Amino acid sequence: TALAAFEIVAPLPAVAARLGAIRASGARLFGVLDTPPSVDAPETGPALPDGPAALRIRDLRVRYGPGEPWALDGVDLDIAPGRTVAVLGPSGAGKSTLASVLFRFRDPDSGTVELGGADITAHPVDAARAAVAGVPQDPHIFASSLRENLRLARPGCGDDALWDALRRARLAHEVEAMPDGLETEVGSHGTRLSGGMRQRLALARALLAAPRVLVLDEPTAHLDPDTRDAVTADLLAAAEGYSTLLITHDLAGLDRVDEIYVLAEGAVLQHGSHADLLASDGWYRDAVALTNGAGAG
Ligand code: ADP
Ligand code: MG
Repeated sequence: TALAAFEIVAPLPAVAARLGAIRASGARLFGVLDTPPSVDAPETGPALPDGPAALRIRDLRVRYGPGEPWALDGVDLDIAPGRTVAVLGPSGAGKSTLASVLFRFRDPDSGTVELGGADITAHPVDAARAAVAGVPQDPHIFASSLRENLRLARPGCGDDALWDALRRARLAHEVEAMPDGLETEVGSHGTRLSGGMRQRLALARALLAAPRVLVLDEPTAHLDPDTRDAVTADLLAAAEGYSTLLITHDLAGLDRVDEIYVLAEGAVLQHGSHADLLASDGWYRDAVALTNGAGAG
């Protein structure tokens, strides 16, 4: 049932032409794991309030070089504190570019991104990155124990907090059943874990970072279709109470988010709740109808 909407609805002509051009987004997990920033940022900045933050994006434009097409071409998007918003779009729509701006891997070419009421460029890079934690398609899982993988998000953190995060991420039962528990070695790139467990581990780690905004960038893209829906449901349940951005190219779970933005070629095509979008003519309703039709057949 988790058919990718954009795989069966193909009215966006430039999409196919761009499929070959998708590159690694650079939107990785935490600043500490990454190369130094290429963005401009001050040494000190305004304090970020605790708890889920509001995200406010206005007329955001980003491109990868002079003369290149706009990867994001005037995007407006809001997340109210504690709400879950989805960005739905095909490959090449600009979804990971959006994530890389939020993670402070790229500066906007123009427009504004405000987090907790202050422009993200006003914060030191480390502070901005600590405020936005994510679960990417392919999380960085290290050849180490579960405990050490989790503690990357919060060095020295005690086991109680680790178990809390594992419970929220719906991974605690599996870990309790492992003879070595938190000592379990996950193998190179986490290959001793199932794909769903790797994503849940990445979520637990992101939650430990106490993010002001949680970004899930196609977190189930590499899972098989049978587990995709369940993992998406668990991720969304765990994200409740966080300001959450779910980036996705399929329709799984979108009936559970507060608002949906349909993104194509760097621009917002449609915006509204699942119910709003189903009630109006347009791309989203067609995609849902086709997916249901395909599922029934
Ligand atoms: P999505 O995540 O929705 O698949 P991306 O944000 O990765 O889309 O890509 C949006 C556009 O930006 C695409 O046209 C893509 O080819 C281009 N792009 C993405 N990353 C890079 C990059 N590192 N260098 C040049 N162009 C890029
Ligand atoms: Mg992407």
